[in-house]
Amino acid sequence: MSLTVVGSIAFDSVRTPFGERERMLGGSAVHFALAASFFTEVRVVGPVGDDFGDDEIAVLSERGVITDDIEHVEGGQTFFWQGHYEHDMNIAHTDDTQLNVFADFEPKLSAESREAEMLFLGNIQPDLQRDVRAKSAASYAGLDSMNLWIETTKNSLVAAIGEIDCLLLNDAELRMLTGEPNLARAARSAMELGPSVIVAKRGEYGAALFTEEGFFAIPGLPLEDVRDPTGAGDSFAGGFLGYLDEARSAGRTDDVTLRIAMAYGSVMASFNVEDFGTERVRRLTEGEIADRVLDFKRLTHFDEPSN
Ligand code: AMP
Repeated sequence: MSLTVVGSIAFDSVRTPFGERERMLGGSAVHFALAASFFTEVRVVGPVGDDFGDDEIAVLSERGVITDDIEHVEGGQTFFWQGHYEHDMNIAHTDDTQLNVFADFEPKLSAESREAEMLFLGNIQPDLQRDVRAKSAASYAGLDSMNLWIETTKNSLVAAIGEIDCLLLNDAELRMLTGEPNLARAARSAMELGPSVIVAKRGEYGAALFTEEGFFAIPGLPLEDVRDPTGAGDSFAGGFLGYLDEARSAGRTDDVTLRIAMAYGSVMASFNVEDFGTERVRRLTEGEIADRVLDFKRLTHFDEPSN
């Protein structure tokens, strides 16, 4: 089992009602890779600039993430995102996006990255996502995107979605992409573009799974300490696809497996939001993950009265 991710590798400056951080390590590929590293072997593909140093690489390699395909662009600056959250932390307000080294990025995949069984196309320009999909031999591919690309490059995004198996989007973005206000209809209409699995992420309210066979939903954990939701979507995707890669290599691909993957996605997202940037996931243990899976099981279980 192995998983390749392409996506932003970033410095993020973030303000939430609970504090502020300047230029912390972030990006869709980074949050995804750290979460997925608890389940499978992960390789990151993407460019960084001169401002990206050994300390940043160490955050990934300490979790066993393979960084050989992170390309250092001489004289360049790493992708930069600045945003803030008001009291409704489900909505990220973007204050600045500097593509920097991503502006001229031409993805190069090593033989190992090409041959990984699973591919995740994290949130970046959809033509780059298509380029990587074309170069990869993965038997299963997931994709995430955002409102920016739906608004500015919708045709490329629709083409990219036609080439993958699993689409993970925020519920509002799924509605925006398909023009369907009803979530179930929006998911059906997204499936007609190609993917057989649609995951609608709903921030603190959890996530919904649509497949050809049916529907499943998982709530968010009612956490009392949420400090920074940046990267929650990518951590969800990392837990979801990381678990799926592990399960697929054991021959499990059915809806029961997808439901368990939903639980792992939710668990990883719930840890991510407890602290700024990558801080919480960096100190996370497998024992904590196992305990929180049980919390989710308890939260979603009920019995009929016995009499
Ligand atoms: P999310 O999981 O949706 O909260 O994604 C958060 C990450 O997305 C942050 O770490 C940002 O660096 C990254 N990001 C924000 N805007 C963009 C963009 N336009 N392209 C790629 N990555 C982005």
